[in-house]
Amino acid sequence: MAIEVPRGFLIVLSGPSGCGKGTVLAKLLAEREDTVLSVSVTTRSPRPGDQDGVQYYFRTHEQFEQMIADDALLEYACYNGNYYGTPKAAVEEHLAAGRNVILEIEVQGAEKVMAKWQEPYVSLFLAAPSLLELESRLRGRDTEKEEDIRNRLAAAREELQHVSSYQYLVVNDEIDLAAARIHTIIEAEKLRITRNKNTLEALEVC
Ligand code: ADP
Ligand code: 5GP
Repeated sequence: MAIEVPRGFLIVLSGPSGCGKGTVLAKLLAEREDTVLSVSVTTRSPRPGDQDGVQYYFRTHEQFEQMIADDALLEYACYNGNYYGTPKAAVEEHLAAGRNVILEIEVQGAEKVMAKWQEPYVSLFLAAPSLLELESRLRGRDTEKEEDIRNRLAAAREELQHVSSYQYLVVNDEIDLAAARIHTIIEAEKLRITRNKNTLEALEVC
């Protein structure tokens, strides 16, 4: 009898701009094969070094609005004057193939997904150890103009008010530690009774 591949699960991850989401996720994903990052679509301009289809699919407002009209997005939101959204088809493809999918998205979009997702999922909020440290990281990255940095810091205060919508809080004090904490959360989720149908069958548990 063919063994059914257990379906992957959704991991909703948010955190203020500059807290280290990209940095921690790069480490985490390099260390595990069972989990992938959903590549979002955005209307914001690429940063130096950004490649279309890698960090984001960079699209015009018109193209983005066509994706909304085509119902091609699992969720979308407007952040700092630009659209950001999650393409639906790729998420479904990965989950069906048994891969967990991380949605690295801001809180409005995350709350939309959490409200409508019909399967068990994991949600976590990544934070810098303090607002002062967040500001220092955002400035240190040196990718945004002063006005954009101020807007992102104001957005961070607002986003932190939504932390209780999430199941887990992960502090990114050190990159390795933060990645290890997320590994732990994923490993625990994989051990749920409801995710271990094949093992239960082998143990002849109905
Ligand atoms: P985000 O994706 O959340 O916007 P980034 O991953 O771009 O954030 O990180 C913002 C800046 O902070 C980068 O310059 C990155 O190198 C730095 N950074 C990330 N994590 C840490 C950490 N634990 N300690 C110190 N600096 C960090
Ligand atoms: P950045 O411009 O720094 O790459 O991203 C800005 C914000 O948009 C971040 O908080 C990031 O998590 C969020 N974001 C990225 N992709 C998506 C998406 O597909 N949907 C939503 N709702 N937010 C996203």
